Amino acid sequence: MLENNKQFSPCPICNKEDISTLLHTKDYSLTGEDFQIIQCANCTLEYTDPAPSKEAIAPYYNFPSYISHTDTKEGLVNKMYHKVRNHTLTQKTNWVQSLFTGHKGHLLEVGAGTGAFADSMSKKGWKVTALEPDASSRQKALDNYNLNILPIEELFHLEPAKYEVITLWHVLEHVHDLNAYMKTFHSLLKPNGRLIIAVPNYTSYDAGYYKKYWAAYDVPRHLYHFSPLSMHYLAKKHKMSIMQKLPMWFDSFYVSLLSEKYKQSGMIGMIRAFFIGCISNLTALSNVDRGSSMIYEIKKID
Ligand SMILES: [Zn+2]
Repeated sequence: MLENNKQFSPCPICNKEDISTLLHTKDYSLTGEDFQIIQCANCTLEYTDPAPSKEAIAPYYNFPSYISHTDTKEGLVNKMYHKVRNHTLTQKTNWVQSLFTGHKGHLLEVGAGTGAFADSMSKKGWKVTALEPDASSRQKALDNYNLNILPIEELFHLEPAKYEVITLWHVLEHVHDLNAYMKTFHSLLKPNGRLIIAVPNYTSYDAGYYKKYWAAYDVPRHLYHFSPLSMHYLAKKHKMSIMQKLPMWFDSFYVSLLSEKYKQSGMIGMIRAFFIGCISNLTALSNVDRGSSMIYEIKKID
């Protein structure tokens, strides 16, 4: 059993102590252990409790199918993930470039996994620095793309004010030192640079529908669960501001499929996942804050 970890009290974003338990969930993908989701009443950030420390969390990533650490194409969900990944890779690459019309520069990717996005941007002429904590993923990036990815600790030794853009694709929810990272991003960005953060959104329709089965809680690997409002507070705390919010349309289907898998609902669940994904996206079409996952484009304000 993990000890109740007090690192998230008070709230890491707003420092208030008005927190309550929202729901009880499990590590469905590996250990089956119980965790709870706590919510801050002030800034609405949610967090996993108990949260394994940096030292204790490694075993929770230690399973062969951990999807961002693997290139396996076995099983329906993995197959779909990899198909969609190729498509979204092109979309991400084009979108990030569109923020800098005709201008290329330095890009820092934090949590580069096996290097697909870093490689894609590098091929477009960007000077890419990529960081990743998992050694076997760094090795895969070297084998697949001849890409030299650095250990994550290097984040704190990079040159200040060098980067046009810093990207974190589904990474910030895994980071223990939330404020140290955000502070560092502020110092590494050029004055007009952009911080791109993609994270799951617990205010989405699919999160509300699946509740404790919602696969994007992914406890205890996801330490924090963000809403658009809590992301606003986090950016503001670090002298930054959200410029743009975009829903991630495929995440609703992918997360719904995984959630049905956790519910063990069989074929009927696969069909239902498709409809829940559709409803989630329709909801996000009328309200941008309701995407299953969100991309935030963030800029420095001083
Ligand atoms: Zn708070």
